[in-house]
Amino acid sequence: MNLKEGFFVGSNNHFYIGGCDTVDLAERYGTPLYVMDDASIRNMCRAFVGAMETYAPGGMVSYASKAFSSTAIAKIVSQEKMGLDVVSGGELYTAIKAGVPMENVTLHGSAKTPYEMEMAVDYGVGRIVIDNQSEVPILQQIAKRLEKEVRVCIRINPGIEVSTHQYVKTAAVDSKFGLGIDDGEALQAAKNISRCPNLCLSGVHTHLGSQIFEVNPYVRAVDRLTDFMALASAVTGVEMTELIVGGGFGVQYTIADPPTMNPKEIVKLLANEAARQAARKGIRKLRLILEPGRIIVAEAGITLYTITGIKAIPGIRTYVNVDGSMADNPRPALYGSRYEALLANRASETPKNTYAIAGRACEMGDVFGFEYQFPHPEVGDILAMLSTGAYHYSMASHYNRLPIPAVVLTRYGKAEPIVIRETYQDLLRYDRVPDWVHSKTV
Ligand code: PLP
Repeated sequence: MNLKEGFFVGSNNHFYIGGCDTVDLAERYGTPLYVMDDASIRNMCRAFVGAMETYAPGGMVSYASKAFSSTAIAKIVSQEKMGLDVVSGGELYTAIKAGVPMENVTLHGSAKTPYEMEMAVDYGVGRIVIDNQSEVPILQQIAKRLEKEVRVCIRINPGIEVSTHQYVKTAAVDSKFGLGIDDGEALQAAKNISRCPNLCLSGVHTHLGSQIFEVNPYVRAVDRLTDFMALASAVTGVEMTELIVGGGFGVQYTIADPPTMNPKEIVKLLANEAARQAARKGIRKLRLILEPGRIIVAEAGITLYTITGIKAIPGIRTYVNVDGSMADNPRPALYGSRYEALLANRASETPKNTYAIAGRACEMGDVFGFEYQFPHPEVGDILAMLSTGAYHYSMASHYNRLPIPAVVLTRYGKAEPIVIRETYQDLLRYDRVPDWVHSKTV
């Protein structure tokens, strides 16, 4: 197994993250437990921001907070000079409370509510990305009422297919996201926006999908988007300057995946390509913006589980039952995602056999995979699942009325919770019983 920097096996045979013994963490904070390493997150932010400063000065790296949104993480990425993408009022509220400068915040979403748009306008976010025609008059009305001028980008659907899971391809022609170029919808939106007195058309955006390892689709996207910028600027008379190429940069979850994409290479390639295309197409000013989510936090995180039971089916397979489930990690059920995993309390023992890891939810699909290699596992062992920092905590649910696990942040041997574990009382906090149910008057 290929362990990341800062993750190691100690002389006590235990697995360590951020200088902390994971077996101690499990004992102190209970399981399931999400653990995020501060230094690993910051290293990734610095690699992106450093490359942007070198190859596209004035550009911005905007963390897609849907990958993991919490007050502490928003503060960390903001301290590292990143912007922040939000896709809901809840993510925006988190950014506000974390003190993220609002000019560095971008509001996205294919179905933003008027309330969310109003919140974003009121707090003065840096830009709002229009995803469909209906949003334009609604946003204009809100901006007018609040007497604000709002910077607006158009989400373009460039009709580029990428090879990734069907559910995380976002820019094929038939997609719920963005406006098409060939059907004239994007240009129509540009015209409509340019006629709105309170909206300022500042640029274009696209997001091709997630877990992408090839660079070609990004290069084609830059070509298509700059074509559109040149055309729309000529037609509307408004000079568009912001080119947002989205996120989606692939992460190596298992040895079967290609290596995690290299931030410096991505930024260098896209910066050079954007500058080349801008020069060819007469675009005088261009600001490159990237929106990495997963690649910033995925490998900085692990999940710790306790093994609650072993079930052997002779001649077929052995299931290792854990105290977590699709409620803390829905990705295997959604996308067939797979991970590397190890026994954290016996981390230097040689794996002997192949096991399936079964979640505790009442769904046959709640299996984290069938091909994990472990030394003979026992009830009470601590299982560490690696690279769970992105789209785990943020996708967690209460299915089976399971409380959402705590999140602990580590840094060079220190550990502090950044999200407290929910209790059963928390689960019932918003339950109400109407009078007629209470008094059985029906
Ligand atoms: N930008 C937008 C608009 C997105 O929708 C997403 C993910 O869905 C991202 C950025 C981040 O993608 P990833 O986490 O794969 O980098």
